[in-house]
Parts: sequence; C-alpha cells; structure tokens
Amino acid sequence: MPAVVDPRLANRAVLNMAATRLKHRMTHGLPQSEALAIPETTLAQFVHGRPWQIDRHPFNWDRHQYLLPLYQAFHVAPDENAGLSIIVQKGAQVGASTFGMLALLFLALKFPGSWSAYFLPDQAMTHIFSSNRFKPLVESNPTIAPLLGGERGEGDNSNRLRTVGRSSVSFGYMGGRTSTESIPLLGIFFDEVRRMEPLDINLAQERISHSPYPIDVKMSTAGYPQQDIHAYFLKTNQQYFHTDCHCHDGIVLAEEWPQCIGVQGAEVFYRCPKCSAVIENPQIGRYIAHAPDKPIHGFHMPQTLSLAPLHQPQKLWEKYIDPQQDRGEFYRSTLGLPYIDREAQLVTEEDLIACENPDLTWEKEGINCSLGLDQMGQFNDVVIIKHTPRGKFRLMHIERIEGDDPFGDGRLDELMKRYDISHACVDLNPNYNESLRFCKRWYGRAHLVTYSSTDRADMFAWRDRRRPKDQTPNDPEVKFKFVVTLQRYKAMDYALGLFRERLVEMPPRRGLVQTVHDEHGVLRPVFMAEELFWKHMQRMVRQKHVLDDDQLTFKMQMVKVGPDPHLAFAWTYSVASASRSGGGRVTIL
Ligand SMILES: [Zn+2]
Repeated sequence: MPAVVDPRLANRAVLNMAATRLKHRMTHGLPQSEALAIPETTLAQFVHGRPWQIDRHPFNWDRHQYLLPLYQAFHVAPDENAGLSIIVQKGAQVGASTFGMLALLFLALKFPGSWSAYFLPDQAMTHIFSSNRFKPLVESNPTIAPLLGGERGEGDNSNRLRTVGRSSVSFGYMGGRTSTESIPLLGIFFDEVRRMEPLDINLAQERISHSPYPIDVKMSTAGYPQQDIHAYFLKTNQQYFHTDCHCHDGIVLAEEWPQCIGVQGAEVFYRCPKCSAVIENPQIGRYIAHAPDKPIHGFHMPQTLSLAPLHQPQKLWEKYIDPQQDRGEFYRSTLGLPYIDREAQLVTEEDLIACENPDLTWEKEGINCSLGLDQMGQFNDVVIIKHTPRGKFRLMHIERIEGDDPFGDGRLDELMKRYDISHACVDLNPNYNESLRFCKRWYGRAHLVTYSSTDRADMFAWRDRRRPKDQTPNDPEVKFKFVVTLQRYKAMDYALGLFRERLVEMPPRRGLVQTVHDEHGVLRPVFMAEELFWKHMQRMVRQKHVLDDDQLTFKMQMVKVGPDPHLAFAWTYSVASASRSGGGRVTIL
C-alpha cells in the first residue's frame, strides 16, 4: 500500500472522533474488533470527504449532478427514520450501480456486524460486479481497503461473499441458490429488476423482514407499463428531473422526446417545445415529486440527464432514428420510461373488454368442451372453452390447481368429466411423467404439447395424424402417439388474435373467485379473470429479432412481458384442443 495522506485528517470532526476513540482506548484497552466509526448519515456525506476511485477514476459530481439528490436521499439514521426504501427507474449506464455499490459499503461500515445483499439478474453479471467494480472501489480507499476480507484477514473475500470489517456483503443472482439463503439481512439491493421474476424478488425480500433497520433499494431500466420497476415506481413520490427552461416548471426532457430535440444543420441539441428555450446543460434544474404524498423515494433518471459523451443529444438522436434499433427499447433503456407498442401487443385491455359479456356466467359444468393446460412446479393452469353455434370461442372456466400432485389429485380428472371434455392439450414439461400419465389415462382424448420453432412448421401438427419429415419435435424421446407440436409463433398469433377479431366471449371479469397464490406468492382469494387471465393475455408481444444487419433479414418472435403468462399458454392449448375436436356437426347436403 503506497503512503497516502488521508484527507480526512484535515477534517475537525474526524480528528475529534479519533481523539475520543484514543481516550476510550486508554481507559478500556484496545478492543479486538473496533469498528471504523462512520459519523455520516447520508451517502452524499460519506462519498464527499473520502478518496474514492470509481471504476478506476476519481469520483466526480460534475457530470452527475442529477445523482446528488439520490445520494442525499440515502439517509441512514436509526434515530430519525425506521428504515429506508428507494426506487430508481432509469436509463442504462447513468451511474445507479455505482450508487448501489457505495450504499452497500456505507451500510457495511455504518452497521458493524451487519449483512447486506446485492442482487443482479445472472451469475456472470454478479461476478463481474463483485470483482471488477466493488473490490477495486473498496481497495481505492486507503482507510477502508484493509478491512476487506475482515479486520485481520480471517473473513471471506470471494465474488459471492466479502467481509468488510465485521460486516458481510453478499452478491447474488435470481434463481441462484446459496447456503447463506436463510440468513436475515439488514439491507437488500436489486439491480435491474426488469430481468427478475417478482416471485424471486419477494422471496429475497423476505430476508429483510426481521431487519432492525430494513433497507430496500430497487433499480432498473424500465420495462412495460405497470410492470417491473414501473410497478414499484408508482408506489413512490415519483421524482422527475425538471431541466430549467423559460417555463415555470421547466421540462422533463425524456417525457417530451422527440419534441425536445432541435436539429440545425449537423447540430443536434435539446430545446423546450413549449417555450423554445435552447438547453445547453440538461443537469441544471431540480427534481419535482409528482406524487409528493407518498413516503417512498422514487427517482426517474434517463440518459437525457447525463453529460457522458455517449449520451449527448446527437448520439441519442442517431440511435432513435436508426431503423435497426428497437424503438420500444429506446424508450425503456434510454429514456427510462415504460413502453409498450400497442401494435406489437397481441391482446389489449380494449380487446378483453370488448369480449366480455355481462350476460354470461362462469359455468360449473358443460358438454363437449375443450381444455388447455399449462404446467409449472406445484400448479397447473387450466382453461376450458367451448365452440358456440355462432362460431365463437366461449370461455367456460379457468382454474389454478395447486398442490404436490396437480395432475393426480383427482381435480383434473373431475374437470374432464364435469365439462365433458372432448379434447385436451396438456403442456409436456416440466413434469413430464405426470403429464404423460394423465394423457395415457385419457387415452385418445388428451395430447401432450411440444413446440417447433421451424418457420415452415404447421401451426398445430398432430403426431397421430401426420408428420412431415422435415419437422422434428422438441422431444424425440417421447414415443407416445398423442403428441401435438405447436409452431409457437403461429399458434399464439392465431389463438390470441381471436380476441382482436372479437371471436371470443367471456363472462364478467369479477365473476370467478378462487383462493390461490397470487403472482407475489400470497395465498388469498383472487379474481381469476381480472387478476390472472386478463393480465396474462396482455403479456404476449411480437418482437422483431434482426438476424443479419446487412441482409436485413429478421425473424418475428413472441416474447413475454413480465412474469410468465401461464394462462395465455393454457388458452392457446385450449384453442388447439377445440380445433382438434372441430366446431360441432357439419351437415353436408
Ligand atoms: Zn420551456
């Protein structure tokens, strides 16, 4: 370690503190694990007076003025508040991870003996973050560096777990299982919430439920409206940065995009579309809370606030008008705003409302119905439909069968009888043995579902009828005769498109209640249509996936938005079943 004069020694408060500590030591002897005292109560104070290196550069506010209020909001003072919750909805690379990293370290030092965790979406990101960013940051500070790996080097210093003084900080990813899983945490950080499942987030969050001073930080680029980070952001005071112009409240550049862009010759700059002021520095202005009554801190931090060279208006504009770029992604990860292209969404809320018929009721039984089933660990989602004489698809019943054996506990067989199911299509995976047993039990009346992604494949290919040679199903080992292979894109486009074409009719959205686990893992009475079916239907989006930039070749894909929309799959399977059973009797004259 090179000799560095700690600038803190010029600080009177620090010197006083050191003197007090010395006096204490003279009276009581040298404690074995005296924690480094951290008098600061906000992260802004903690960062200001200390010699940090962020990604190997000195810390500098000049280009990051918009981050300062966030660092100030990170106010840790157990005498003054009961914990802290912060939500950041942001563009990519605006400095939020650096904030998270410093906050994590601040907590570790402020609360000796504590344990906090930082979650990222996957293992690779976790390792890079811990080794390439967090470790060099700690090592850049001569006072704190020696605490890494424990005060006497007896602690952990791996990518997953690092000891800082007497505290521990762990780096985890969603879906990752560790032996430290059950250890209660003081604070928890989620970085890039958009790529995490809400259920995983909730499980991880349980770990601060007994924290004496719970700290909960969630940050992410935006996803779709009311989902992902936006769902959390809506519960906060929603602070947007208003850049100064001639208007009274200034301008939120991201929200006025693209009208906030001015182009003159080769020059691209920000301007206010209302007062025409040209904006030289977007960081001059202030945050205004759009929901000031809510106690949780929420910040919106788009790239339009950044002065980084890659975030100049010119660069952002070039990206925006580039036809190769996904427009929706520009809104979400550059402007930090949730966005959904309505053309890309297969089923909209409007479609669902149009298909809702208040005169219908949810049926307890039926004749000649069709069933679709999507399965997961510990539950099956079931959709039961029937062709109407007018050629529509009538939704009869939806159900989530939960438990250890949702295929074999009798309920599914009961549904088969009650609704006189003439045909069922059942997801093959993940519980392959159970689904196969079920289809054997209902021999000839139930098909297992597999997928094909070949463009030429038929929408529904029934193995017991015919199978073109060029079309290999996903699971060649399955020797069972009753298998249907769905071309995923075609099948979902058709089945979900029925709503847009108004070929579906369904009973009122609040007419069916069942006590099941909701999407956050809470067992409670749920409006099955409104809270599950309707939401799931709206979560499938068409996306253009560019295969080759030069040849302009692309492939259309179906992607899910947010958590897994099991009922959208179950619906698709029920439509496949109905197509197999036919639309009733056809009389040939
Ligand atoms: Zn203005």
